[in-house]
Amino acid sequence: MTARRVSILGATGSVGLATLDLIGRAEPGAYAVIALTARSNAAELARQAIRFQAKCVAIADPAAAPALQAALKDYPHVEIGVGDAAVCEAAAREADWTMAAIVGAAGLKPTLAALRQGRALAFANKECLVCAGALFMDEAARCGTTLLPVDSEHNAVFQVFDPGQRAAIRSITLTASGGPFREASRETMARATRADALAHPTWTMGAKISIDSATMMNKGLEVIEACWLFDLPPAQVEVVVHPQSIIHGMVEYADGSLLAQLGSPDMRTPIASALAWPQRMAAPVERLRLTDIARLDFAPPDLTRFPAIRLARAAIEAGGIAPAVLNAANEIAVEAFLADRIGFLDIAAGVEEVLERSLSDADMPRTLTAFEDVFAIDSRARRMARDLMVERLANP
Ligand code: NDP
Repeated sequence: MTARRVSILGATGSVGLATLDLIGRAEPGAYAVIALTARSNAAELARQAIRFQAKCVAIADPAAAPALQAALKDYPHVEIGVGDAAVCEAAAREADWTMAAIVGAAGLKPTLAALRQGRALAFANKECLVCAGALFMDEAARCGTTLLPVDSEHNAVFQVFDPGQRAAIRSITLTASGGPFREASRETMARATRADALAHPTWTMGAKISIDSATMMNKGLEVIEACWLFDLPPAQVEVVVHPQSIIHGMVEYADGSLLAQLGSPDMRTPIASALAWPQRMAAPVERLRLTDIARLDFAPPDLTRFPAIRLARAAIEAGGIAPAVLNAANEIAVEAFLADRIGFLDIAAGVEEVLERSLSDADMPRTLTAFEDVFAIDSRARRMARDLMVERLANP
């Protein structure tokens, strides 16, 4: 058996750990781990490098390098890279399959480095597509890269989307659990603490995506991600609140058939689907027993309590720089909320204000013609969002 060479970007995060859990259960020799990367969690990265005999590791934060070097001092065969450039170099190491699971726009450069290998890219880092959609998809096509969606909803749609019947596809639907505030009043949401917002009812995930799920910005980002991945206009991408998180995504065909993928809410199912694609592999997830679940509920999202979905739709409709601005502003607002510097409802309100200011700023470029433009817009929008957070703190 020839080992399949795999790399994991964001190996120490929730998706990274789930991916390594699957790889760790495979037959010995099935996989050869090439590169593992993290931002600052040196202890976990070193543990993984030793357990999976990785060829190289890269850590973005130079402050974490001494701990990583000390932990790997008895393993000289593991190459160690430090800094953002080293993360990109690790991503560019030849591998047959790479998991892109860095959180946020910080993942764009390393994900591009992996994409440019022209092999299989398992794609979790939705923020990349939100900020650089057209450029990213063009680059994937140019390099002959196979994009395998990992976000559970997109992976579900991917499993039931028949590209040969594109003309007969009426719509796709992404389901949303509704997050911890599905039934909360705006007053409760206004008072929500970090702990309240992080307490997701059905999924265990990293902090940023958990807050995005609570504001439902996650679903907004996913609508944008789906438009790019499946080449559909926003009007053909629907969102349905489904609190049980059993149906993850659906494709509606012209003959009235609605094809859905169901599964327990465990990321190891979509990750296994991307890892084994186009085959199937076993995943250690709870089996779905529909008679135990007994009922499935569905409702439209409440766009008054969750304006983030409306903002994301407006951003993709507007096109140009708007999705990149939305993403950058959201990342800064979520960071500020997690640091207890702004309230929960300020997240979407802040994003809306940054979007409005950016789109009416005569100095802001209007189009994205190269990745450099994306990086420039991302940093401008971040600066604008940070200034706004400071203003809000000064005038609550
Ligand atoms: P986590 O926060 O759990 O993990 C993020 C990973 O990225 C960690 O390995 C982290 O390293 C690394 N990282 C963070 N910042 C940087 C940086 N600046 N440079 C290099 N590496 C960095 O996130 P999740 O695993 O929850 O999510 C990852 C991505 O997958 C997100 O885009 C999310 O939207 C998407 N996704 C996640 C799902 C989930 O169930 N968690 C489901 C669907 C999509 P360190 O640990 O050292 O900080």
